[in-house]
Amino acid sequence: MAQARKLDCESAAADCRFIIQSEDEDEAVELARKHMKDVHGKEFTDEELREEHLQVV
Ligand SMILES: [Zn+2]
Repeated sequence: MAQARKLDCESAAADCRFIIQSEDEDEAVELARKHMKDVHGKEFTDEELREEHLQVV
């Protein structure tokens, strides 16, 4: 069973309800990075997203 990765944007940006969930970690990171850049204008590295923002669910 693959473990899904979840990003709850609310934990990074208090006023955003965006949630990403994917069983593909690379995809989850990619989507999260794009969302942070496009919506919040913030640049995160893949490592920052993986280690600080993605939860294993
Ligand atoms: Zn967001």
